[in-house]
Amino acid sequence: MPKKTTNKKATVKKASAKPSSRKPAAGRKPGSKNKDYTTSATTQTRCEKCGSTDRLPYSRQQLLDHHGTAPDGQPCTHVRLQWTGCKSCGQARIDRTYENNA
Ligand SMILES: [Zn+2]
Repeated sequence: MPKKTTNKKATVKKASAKPSSRKPAAGRKPGSKNKDYTTSATTQTRCEKCGSTDRLPYSRQQLLDHHGTAPDGQPCTHVRLQWTGCKSCGQARIDRTYENNA
């Protein structure tokens, strides 16, 4: 006696109404390219030796996973390390930029 197989298909309802996800921009705009690095929201880095904010162009950078809290209390997902140096006294340093890419 063959068993009759009932084709039970879960009817998936399609959400017709698009939820408008318009939040006040807290960080990067959605859909913005990865390429443009804006670090405007971060505090300006300063040379610890002479106090100058003039720095050399970043020679290299690295993005690290860092799920936690930035020094300003904001949640962050990544820390960007950028190698640079002081333009005034030549002191080398690594700038840390806390990013929230969630
Ligand atoms: Zn300096």
